[in-house]
Amino acid sequence: PQWEKKVQHSCQAKRSGGMVVLVTGASGFVGTHVSLALKKRGDGVLGLDNFNDYYDTSLKRAREGLLKKHGVFVIEGDINDSKLLNKLFDVIPFTHIMHLAAQAGVRYAMENPSSYVHSNIAGLVNLLEACKTANPQPAIVWASSSSVYGLNDKVPFSEIDRTDQPASLYAATKKAGEEITHTYNHIYGLSITGLRFFTVYGPWGRPDMAYFSFTRNILQGKPITVYRGHNRVDLARDFTYIDDIVKGCIASLDTATKSTGSGGKKKGPAQFRIYNLGNTSPVTVPTLVNILERHLKVKARKNIVDMPGNGDVPFTHANITLAKMELGYKPTTDLQNGLKKFVKWYQNYYGYSYSKM
Ligand code: NAD
Repeated sequence: PQWEKKVQHSCQAKRSGGMVVLVTGASGFVGTHVSLALKKRGDGVLGLDNFNDYYDTSLKRAREGLLKKHGVFVIEGDINDSKLLNKLFDVIPFTHIMHLAAQAGVRYAMENPSSYVHSNIAGLVNLLEACKTANPQPAIVWASSSSVYGLNDKVPFSEIDRTDQPASLYAATKKAGEEITHTYNHIYGLSITGLRFFTVYGPWGRPDMAYFSFTRNILQGKPITVYRGHNRVDLARDFTYIDDIVKGCIASLDTATKSTGSGGKKKGPAQFRIYNLGNTSPVTVPTLVNILERHLKVKARKNIVDMPGNGDVPFTHANITLAKMELGYKPTTDLQNGLKKFVKWYQNYYGYSYSKM
């Protein structure tokens, strides 16, 4: 059938020894970039995404269009659909799963808690169940989050630091994911790598994130709400540029191959690893706004308000020594340059600037 042909074609690796990767959440921000990078170097890639309406679905469709142009097919489906997953695993011998599908965002959890349980817990278990019985057993790399550090205020955060005080349901489901994946590694020998991303930003980004909505409001002449932490301390984030995150994801997939012999010879026990993928230089939210103002050449109208108790943590800062050592991970884009690229994409994609409003 037409469907299978498209899947087969998308999964064809164009380099010898190439991986065959199922990317869940492929029409999402990070999923799109990782899929493109894998395809570009000659790996087989199949996308899976349920195109939910957490944010503007036309942006997800546009990303899907970009992927299609580069030979990546995205199946519309949910990671909770076991029938679909088993069918895919029957047809395609995936060597790796890049699992990025999730309900993201910390504040939305107050409105829609069940979607976090559906995608980040039930969906994850469902995917692991399918991987468990697949032949070959794929190596799994998946997105956890810096939010697991929660109320821990000992920065920079290292992987061995405590993660038992999540500040949001989102963080709690990511932490649960780390524990759930550990059991699948322990009992069924699945190779699993969890990546704690630190505030990822860049072209094709997520409209619900501050840098994106600030840009939109500033260009439309609307005010922006800037949260301030307790004791009037500015919030800060370890903003990490998308290309650096993509390199970390691909290095994790490659390392998982080496350690488990996934898709080839088995070389010992399956690995279970967790890495921080951050940028190691936190920037305060007011500084983020200043940089955007400079790039957009427009002054922002700011409403500065105390941070409500809605799941945000005051600051994040990654220690990336482990990822450096084991993955060769080395972020190279600072916020100034990364936002320049984002703003260029934004103005190109939405096709307007302040002067035209
Ligand atoms: P995103 O929302 O743009 O991408 C997630 C994609 O998954 C979406 O396209 C969505 O439609 C899809 N999806 C959600 N639930 C699904 C389901 N049940 N079945 C199939 N598809 C589903 O988010 P993103 O920023 O690209 O994030 C990717 C991953 O990285 C997520 O797991 C997120 O939690 C994690 N993460 C992101 C950041 C960040 O700053 N962007 C930080 C830490 C962790």
